[in-house]
Formats: sequence, structure tokens, C-alpha cells
Amino acid sequence: MCVCGNWMIVLSAFFRRWIFGHSGCVYYGFSTTMFGITQIFLLSAIAFDRFVIIVRPRGFSFSKTTAKIAVLLCYITGFGWALLPVLGWSSYQLEGIGIRCAISWKSNTRGDLAFSMSILVCGWVFPLALILYSYGGIFCKLRQERIRTKTINSNLRSRRERRDRRMAVTVLLMIVKEWKGELRVDLREWENGQPTKKGISLTLMRWKNLVDAIEYVDQGLRNNDGYKTHLGGNVYICIGEGSVCVDIRQFWKPENEVVPTKKGLCLRPGEYQRLKELIPEVGRTLPELDGVVPCYLQSDHMNQLGALKCSECNPCDFHNH
Ligand SMILES: [Zn+2]
Repeated sequence: MCVCGNWMIVLSAFFRRWIFGHSGCVYYGFSTTMFGITQIFLLSAIAFDRFVIIVRPRGFSFSKTTAKIAVLLCYITGFGWALLPVLGWSSYQLEGIGIRCAISWKSNTRGDLAFSMSILVCGWVFPLALILYSYGGIFCKLRQERIRTKTINSNLRSRRERRDRRMAVTVLLMIVKEWKGELRVDLREWENGQPTKKGISLTLMRWKNLVDAIEYVDQGLRNNDGYKTHLGGNVYICIGEGSVCVDIRQFWKPENEVVPTKKGLCLRPGEYQRLKELIPEVGRTLPELDGVVPCYLQSDHMNQLGALKCSECNPCDFHNH
């Protein structure tokens, strides 16, 4: 903004009048309007990005590409609004003490008024509403999470002894176990009383993300839509379009695309149902679960860069660099 226009004001102030003529005026008005509107939209995009990272409405998350597109859209919007007066809807006029130019706010013609109102609503009211909505949502989510952690931490100690419990899921067995010194929820198919290789072991954080995703998985199953969400470290829960099986699987990224591995389980409807029934029991068995703060709620994830640097949230890029 300094490079684009401010020097013009300074020079004009020395001469005590606008010295750049009409085209200079249009240039100044255009650049300040464009960068002004772009700034406002960038701020609301940042707010919304944080909202998506923290609240994760419908399990939705931003990729690098979406972030880039959002920034580009902000610039296009700014450019578009600033261009309209140049093209003849309203105009750029000298304002104040006559050493700078802006949209002709004081004009009373119907077209100019319409433009002023439109830019007020689209370029100010709308982004402001988005910012308020986003930070409001984040505030509520964080408060909710704090209250929940507090109540549950108080019940934690008395229940620790119940840890190593098995829960039968027809042929599927779910075990809470300690693995490499870390508690995990193991989902595994058993045969003749022996665990098979078919299954997947989830860290508590991934299990927690799975529980959070259940609502959307159910929705996907009901509507026959496909659904896929990342539980962390390239473990995904997904259903194919029109499929009734729920797949919980480790993926990896050999080249350009993330592909499924053999490590995982495809739950048939009855098994998935049973898994859902057992969620409260896992919660009771594992009071530690409630002390687990999902990655995306941690303070270093409050911006896009923090989340991109995390090996849990963004495992592919993490391994590639
Ligand atoms: Zn993370």
C-alpha cells in the first residue's frame, strides 16, 4: 500500500493540492480500495481457516491447495471491487482536504449509492460476520473441551485398574493394550482364539478422532455417500460410495497419491454396530482417553503452518521433507 499510493499523498501535501490529475486519482483510489478489501477478506479467511482447524465442522479440513485458492480468491475479490468504479459504477473522486482519492461516498446519485451500499455489505458486513462467527465457534469449542476434560479428570484414578479388558466383537476383538509403552486400542480379527494379522492398532488420539468421526460415518452410510476422514498418521476411516463396510486402514504415500495398505480392517455392518456400542465401554476402561487433547486443539496448531508441520496431521509432507 505504501508503494502503491501513500507517496502520492505525501507529495500532494507538499503542493497543498492533488497533483496527479484524474488518472492519478483513479490509480490511487483503485490501489487503496483493492488492497483494503483484500486485507479485510484475508483476515476473515484466516479466521475461517482457524475455525475449520479447531472446530472441524463435519470433519472437514483444509488442504494446502484450498488455502492457496482462498488467498487467490481474496485478491480477486479485492481487484473486482476496486475495478468497478474504474469501469463506471460509481467513481473515484478527491475527498477530504483534496489530497487523496476514494470512492465517491458523498455522491447522491442512485448508482453511486447502490455501489456504496453493496461494497459496505459485501466488503465489510459479510467478512465481519464471518470473523465473528469463526471466533465465536472457536471460543465455544474450547470452552466445551475444557469443561469436559475437567469433569472427567476427577474420575480418572479410581478406574485405572480396569485397563486390560477384552471386548468381543463376533470374530472381531477389541483390546486395550500397552504397546511400546503407549496405550492403544487394538481392533483385530481373531481366529480359533488367536489374533490374526488382520487389524489395526490405534493410538488414543486416533481412537478419539475415530469416535468423533462416527457421526459423519453414520451420515455417509445413511445417505449412501462415500466418506473418508483422516484419523492421524495416515490412518483413515472411510466408506466407499454405496458400500456398507466401514474401512479403518493405514494408508501411505509411495509417490504422488496416498494409497491404502493391507494394514486395517473392513467392518461389516454388524461389526461396525458392535464397535459403536463398545465406544462408551472403551471410554470407561480408558479414562486416560479424556486427558488426550486432539492434535488440532493444541496451541501450535492454531495456524495452518503448525498443522502442516505436524507428523500426525500431515504425515505425507512430513516424511517427504
Ligand atoms: Zn497434529
